[in-house]
Amino acid sequence: MEYPDLSPYEYYEFPLPMRNVGWLGPSFIPRPPAPDVDPRPLRAASRARSNVMLGWHDCPWCPGTTAPHDGNGEYHYYAHDGEVYAAPVMLLHYVEVHGYRPPEQFLQALRVPGELPWDDRAERLATLLFDPSEDVPLRAAGIVDLASWKHPRTIDVLLRAAHDPQLVDAGVDIGRALALLPYDVPADDLPELVRWGFDLQRTNDGANP
Ligand SMILES: [Zn+2]
Repeated sequence: MEYPDLSPYEYYEFPLPMRNVGWLGPSFIPRPPAPDVDPRPLRAASRARSNVMLGWHDCPWCPGTTAPHDGNGEYHYYAHDGEVYAAPVMLLHYVEVHGYRPPEQFLQALRVPGELPWDDRAERLATLLFDPSEDVPLRAAGIVDLASWKHPRTIDVLLRAAHDPQLVDAGVDIGRALALLPYDVPADDLPELVRWGFDLQRTNDGANP
C-alpha cells in the first residue's frame, strides 16, 4: 500500500484522526540516507507498536527475501500540537537504509522536548476503552497508544482495563502499555495475559534499549 505523506490515514479504523507517514510504494526511489536526517529522535519515539495484526512485510528495496524484516504493525506518534502520525514499523529502516526523508513537520514534531500533557486525545482513548456501546476491537485499538502519555492517569486507566472482563482479549496490549510507562507497576497482581504482555515488552526493551 502506498499513501502520500500527510494524507489522512484510512487503512484501519482508529478512534482518532491520523496522518500517513512513510507508506512507501512503487513511486519511491531509494537513495543514500540523507546526512541531515538524524534517526535518533525517530528511534526513541518508536517503541510502542500498534495494530500488530496487520501481517508481515518484507522490504521491497532489499534484495532477496531470505532476510525478512520485522515489519509487522505500525507506530503512532502523538505530536504536542495535536497531530497524530501513523507509520509502518519499517519507517526506521526506510530512513536509515533507503534514504527516505519523512515530512519536515513530522521530524519537527519529534524534536519537541518534554512529556505530553494529558489532553483530549488521551481522554478520548481512555473514555472509549470503557464504552460498552462500542465494539471491543475499536475500544482496544488505542491501548498501546495510551502509553504515549507518561501520566499517572494512564496507570489508573490501564489497571482498570486489566481487570475489565470485556477487555480480556486485549490483555497482552494492556500489559505492553503498562510496561512502556516509567512507573512501578504491581505486576504480580496482573491477570495472566496482561502479565504476559508486560513481560514481553520489558524483555524487548531489554534487548533493544
Ligand atoms: Zn530495505
